[in-house]
Amino acid sequence: MSIAILYNPEIQNYDFGLGHAFRGDRFVSFFQAYQEVFGADGDFKVIRHEELAWDEDLRLLHTPDYINILKAASLADEEPDDLNWPFLGYANRSEWGPKVGPSRQSLSVYVSQDNLDPATGRLPAGIEKAARAVVKNSMLAVDTVQQGRAEKAVGIGGGLHHAKAGYGEGFCIYNDVVIAGRHARKAYGLERILILDTDAHAGNGTCEAFYDDPQVLYIDLHQAGIYPGTGAAEEIGSGAGKGFTVNVPLVSGTGDGDYERIFDEIIIPLAREFRPQLIIRYGGSDPHFADSLTSLGLTMAGFEMIGAKMRQLAGELCVGCCVDLLCSGYTPEILPRAWLSLIAGLSGKTIQWPQPLSEPVYQRAAETEAVIRQVKTILQPYWKCMA
Ligand SMILES: [Zn+2]
Repeated sequence: MSIAILYNPEIQNYDFGLGHAFRGDRFVSFFQAYQEVFGADGDFKVIRHEELAWDEDLRLLHTPDYINILKAASLADEEPDDLNWPFLGYANRSEWGPKVGPSRQSLSVYVSQDNLDPATGRLPAGIEKAARAVVKNSMLAVDTVQQGRAEKAVGIGGGLHHAKAGYGEGFCIYNDVVIAGRHARKAYGLERILILDTDAHAGNGTCEAFYDDPQVLYIDLHQAGIYPGTGAAEEIGSGAGKGFTVNVPLVSGTGDGDYERIFDEIIIPLAREFRPQLIIRYGGSDPHFADSLTSLGLTMAGFEMIGAKMRQLAGELCVGCCVDLLCSGYTPEILPRAWLSLIAGLSGKTIQWPQPLSEPVYQRAAETEAVIRQVKTILQPYWKCMA
């Protein structure tokens, strides 16, 4: 088996409710499309499991306060008898206390408005458990590759890059990327991990966690000027980690060819000089030109190109191994195709779509040239390849 697709069905409950941009049905529609496209291909294997992250895992990034309040808020609407109290860190139901979550006021210190169900103004019941499933799934993707059980591992639901140590925002409860990266270091002693964020939004949580860390080269391509507002080219890390954070802010309409240039002129040279022992890429379909929350310019061919570049880098630097995490995307008709295009590129396959989309070509050549120059100038003191 060369590509493992990891999924815990619990992740379907990672759903902020009716009227919210992030719904759990994305995973159902992805697997329907997956079945049609790659279901009979022996190079892929879907690994379903029921494992959840423990508090100890979450504490690789998150504070105990944050974990406890999210747990309580998410449990408040559930039937107590159904819960596995010892797993949740309580001896029994009575030790946990009354069936009420934290007040809205106390919860607002820990989560942003966009992490709540728009209909109820509360944290959706059960979402904390689903977020644990996401974290464990991304950790298992690392294990799968590090233990040689598959060459490449795709974690469905991973890439919740806006969550911080004590704060959840941008539809992200627990930051599975940071935890999976730290798990790779702790469990396998890795010293150089490349994390590439191709989600349309800047990965503020991931960036913050590794900002002073020279063992993680964090490269982030994102649309400038939208949520969360971070990710300027000048943000390059601090202390020993200076030069190990690389932000490439893109103008709206940045297209396939522009992305390819950034891979060829920035990402691939930096990766070669850094020599990662593990590569983790994440980000779903939101850089597609038709995404409803963003205005970048990728087409399906662009997603396939990104997958193919990851395949090339993994082949050259990590004996073919890499981890890929997929969760974002806010146009339901686009999402499964874009995820599958990324997987196709990653696995060296081409998809013959029964109904191909006709997609316009976007290009922002001058702006892309300018940002490449800017990033190279800023990084020149830290990397030979940027000279
Ligand atoms: Zn995004």
